[in-house]
Amino acid sequence: MTHRIVTFGEDALRRKAQPVIEITPAIKQLAQDMLETMRAARGVGLAAEQVGRDESICVIEVPREAEIPECVENNSAVAMPLVMINPEITGSEGKQRAEEGCLSFPDISVPVTRARQVTAAYTDLEGKRLVITVQGLLARAVQHELDHLEGVLLVDRMSAVQRLSVAGQLKRLRRGAQKASAGTQ
Ligand SMILES: [Zn+2]
Repeated sequence: MTHRIVTFGEDALRRKAQPVIEITPAIKQLAQDMLETMRAARGVGLAAEQVGRDESICVIEVPREAEIPECVENNSAVAMPLVMINPEITGSEGKQRAEEGCLSFPDISVPVTRARQVTAAYTDLEGKRLVITVQGLLARAVQHELDHLEGVLLVDRMSAVQRLSVAGQLKRLRRGAQKASAGTQ
């Protein structure tokens, strides 16, 4: 089942994720729904906050052909899609700067500087704790989704000049969010 994706201006995006204590059938279903929602929206990552939930879960699926060539070999060790439960970044290295978008900020993308490589620990759907080291676009996606789980958004990673350049679009999103919450009351 796909969910509505929460957009900028809605409170759910600012909530910090709560650790998942036990991997229940409901958690597995949530992960499956998040994958379906991400794929339907043609995204490469989605965090629980973006479907209005606060479990510490994100899903990532970076197509191999979208990956930066020099990172393909390293990242091929990581099976896709990635379902990360209670993830944390335990190490990072280098820098990369590239255009970044977010399903909660439709039609907005800005260059963002991120670590070139990150090491992350997470629990998979079988309850196993795993550690991966990823680079390039996949590393960017991991950093972006873990930001979501902390309530940190693309707009927080923008410079003042970048924020100004998309101010009109942000305003429209905020107005839409007010309508969305008025409609649910
Ligand atoms: Zn996002």
